[in-house]
Formats: sequence, C-alpha cells, structure tokens
Amino acid sequence: MSLKLISTDFDGTLVPAWDAPQRFCDELVELLQEIRRRGIVWAVNTGRSPALLEEAWGTVGVDFHPDYALTSERDVFRPCSQRKGAWVDFGDWNTRGFRAHRELFDTALPHLRQAVAYIKAKIGARILYNFDHVNDPSEPAGLTTKTEADMDWVVAYLDEIRTAVPKLHYQRNSIYLRFCHEDYDKGTALSELARLLDIKADEIFAVGDHYNDLPMLGGRHAVHVACPANAIREVKDTVRSADGFLAKREDGYGVVDALKRLL
Ligand SMILES: [Mg+2]
Repeated sequence: MSLKLISTDFDGTLVPAWDAPQRFCDELVELLQEIRRRGIVWAVNTGRSPALLEEAWGTVGVDFHPDYALTSERDVFRPCSQRKGAWVDFGDWNTRGFRAHRELFDTALPHLRQAVAYIKAKIGARILYNFDHVNDPSEPAGLTTKTEADMDWVVAYLDEIRTAVPKLHYQRNSIYLRFCHEDYDKGTALSELARLLDIKADEIFAVGDHYNDLPMLGGRHAVHVACPANAIREVKDTVRSADGFLAKREDGYGVVDALKRLL
C-alpha cells in the first residue's frame, strides 16, 4: 500500500493530554522527518483553533509545521505562503461550513440557550461563547464540565433534546464540548482535504485518542487507523472494528509504533 496522507490528532495523541503541550518525543520527531522526506502529507486534525494550535507549536520543539491544519474539528487550512505559522482557507469548505453553522445556529439558538441554562443550573457547567464561528457573543458555542461523569450526563441530555433541531450535533473532547453541524467533524474535514489533494481513503492514515476523533477512525475517511494506549475505550473499540492498530505505548510513542508498521 502507498501511504500519502497522515491525519494526527494533537492533544493526547502527539503529546500527552491536558498538560501544557510538551515537546514531541525524539522518536516522534525522527519519524515526522522521515514522513517529510518521503513526501507524505501530514495534517494535524485537532479541536484547537489555528491560534491555539500555533500557541502549542511554540513548545513542541520542531522547526517545521504540518502541511495542513484541520482545526476546530471542522476547518481545512493550508499554510500561508507569506507568513510562517499562519493558515489560510484551503478551497471553499470553510466558507460553506461557516454558512451551514450560521443557518443551523439561527434555528437552534432558542433550544441551545434553554439547554445550556438547564445544564448550568443542574451541574454548574461553564458555558463557552467565543468560538470562531459565532457572531453573537451571547450565543453558546460549547461548554465545559468539572468531571467526565458530568460530561457523560450532558451528552446523554443533549442526545435526548437535539432531535428537535435537525443537524444539531456536538463534538466532545473529555470535559470540553462544542456544538456543531452534524456534517462537519474531523472525518469530513479529512475527506475534504483528501478530495482537494486527490488522495484516496486507502492511502490515508488517521490516529486519535478521544470522542472527537471517532469520526475519522471508523475506516471510511481513512482506511488505516490507530490509537495510542491512552485512548478512551470508545476509540479503542472503533479502531478495533476498523481493523486498525491499538498501540501499546501512549501518545507520541504510540503514533510512532503505528506508523512504523505502515512505512
Ligand atoms: Mg486528543
């Protein structure tokens, strides 16, 4: 098989989760250099915004950037040719996504306001307002809870009520959750990048550790999938069902083990 594109989650996959981003381990740096030498395209596929990705990049200890950045679990960016570390829209996916989210949130807003008020009263979740695609600062864009158990409760509640608004969905990453249009996730963003680059699913590798990675790990958007040992059970189950590789080592070390099998 010929590998042409790799899609890697960032937090919990390239670096340990939830600490301030750390340096990539030496083995990972070596492997990424090998990937570049072979001309394989590397996309970081993350819930971070471009600004938060760039902030993290200051600490990881490599002097090169990924070839593409798939951010906020939806957007597709290519590097800006004028400025290192800056990203610009690749194709019109982001514009279409923005419009789809605008239309969705216009319809969903009363439901979302009601839902977050209830969630806040019930478990004291912190409501997040300032994501990129939100014009109205009072428009809830997502939320965060104190514990995973609280977030389990939140998603169970949201699954009950979101049927009232077609296409309303969410992306969960541990105790963080972002509301979104159900057609936009790490999987569909990856497929759009692949379409723009004319790369097929069986030439793509994807790796991730958490709920928001599930859409790109089912085998449809990338045939070759993997997860590090620290991945949550749901990710491991999905990777196993897609005949993927469950690494025995954590985060960046697990990514190295998964990719070495393919190279
Ligand atoms: Mg992660």
